[in-house]
Amino acid sequence: MSTATGTLPRHDITNPALAAEGKKRIEWADRNMPVLGLIRARLEKEKPFVGIRFAACMHVTTETANLMITLKAGGAELALCASNPLSTQDDVAAALVHEYGISTFARKGIDRDGYYKHINAALDIKPNQVFDDGCDLVNTLHTTRTELLSEVAGGCEETTTGVIRLQQMAKDGALKFPMVAVNDTDTKHMFDNRYGTGQSAMDAIFRATNQLIAGKVFVVAGFGFCGKGVAERARGLGASVVITEVDPTKALDALMQGFRVMPMAEAAKIGDLFITVTGNRTIISKEHFELMKDGAILANAGHFNIEIDVEWLEKNAEKSSGIRHATDEYRLKNGRRLLLVAEGRLVNLGAAEGSPAAVLDMSFANQALAAEWLLKDGANLKPGVYNVPKEMDKEIASLKLKSMGAEIDSLTTVQEKYLNSWEHGS
Ligand code: SAH
Repeated sequence: MSTATGTLPRHDITNPALAAEGKKRIEWADRNMPVLGLIRARLEKEKPFVGIRFAACMHVTTETANLMITLKAGGAELALCASNPLSTQDDVAAALVHEYGISTFARKGIDRDGYYKHINAALDIKPNQVFDDGCDLVNTLHTTRTELLSEVAGGCEETTTGVIRLQQMAKDGALKFPMVAVNDTDTKHMFDNRYGTGQSAMDAIFRATNQLIAGKVFVVAGFGFCGKGVAERARGLGASVVITEVDPTKALDALMQGFRVMPMAEAAKIGDLFITVTGNRTIISKEHFELMKDGAILANAGHFNIEIDVEWLEKNAEKSSGIRHATDEYRLKNGRRLLLVAEGRLVNLGAAEGSPAAVLDMSFANQALAAEWLLKDGANLKPGVYNVPKEMDKEIASLKLKSMGAEIDSLTTVQEKYLNSWEHGS
């Protein structure tokens, strides 16, 4: 791991020669991030983050790079590390260090030990604010780097899983500073989770397996916002889509949207492709693997790599690695072959590029504004999990609409008065 040298910030990356390619791709993503661009232009003028140190643990992609560039434009001192060992784009990491002077610790395919070394290296900046995706950095701060806690004023969490972990920490009284649940804004989860994960998970399946989806039985485990997105896209491509759920309301919603609903033990027998998107663990395991058809394809687009019991496959099946891009084959004792994409890690980032820039535009606009809000109002917040103010969420939706050339009506005085009254009945 290098210390800062000359004009280069501290970093640990795979290949500096990829920097020019990374810069080109970061600029390409930026073309689709007009809302973040507007915020960047304002922050650049106002410089609200001068003297503030940020540590960020996020997927190191072209879109995250644009968020980092935005925070730096606002005057922040920054260190970035990866929130998943497989999602790092090595060219982006190189460009961040060599083209943008941003301290970055990320290598695609790093092992668990290296992953945590990188989190610790980012934390060495002694952050005043943090950005997390999945809560690993905040967890590390609260367990092994507690000496840094006193300087941390607060932070922002990007994803559903991280918000759930933070809420548990808050419930146990363990959380020591305010965290903003960026995931829970409408302009994040209704778009990034649904359209972003929906499209990029399919993209990953195509890149990895080049399967025709039409006519296949496509099983989606979990009908949250991510699951809805995947199911809708699979249906659009001509699959017969099966949903598995544990929540009766979500299952009913799936059924009334025309999807088939059944337990995994039934779905396992008929599925050609399976995607887990539950945010929970051990969704597809031994009893399901043994029922599956020869050639069934398995992938995970949610949470960590524990939704599909990869450990069981590793121990009990004969593995052929890398038979396609990001795809391994496991031959079971019954002779059937199962194909696992992206090692069961989140497939949309492991075998494709994750959510496209046009939706992350809103997610990361929320991140940048939430960081600014924390800086202004964070001192009044007790440790806990907070929502982004509603007006900010609406403002981001308005800017995005405008950038897409769509206009909407405003309430007339008569309408506004009606909505604020109760006298008018039938
Ligand atoms: N951190 C966990 C799960 C979160 S991944 C893990 O690594 O397993 C899902 C999150 O990744 C989403 O909240 C989404 O906002 C973010 N994401 C999706 N595509 C991305 C991209 N191209 N760049 C950066 N973040 C992305």
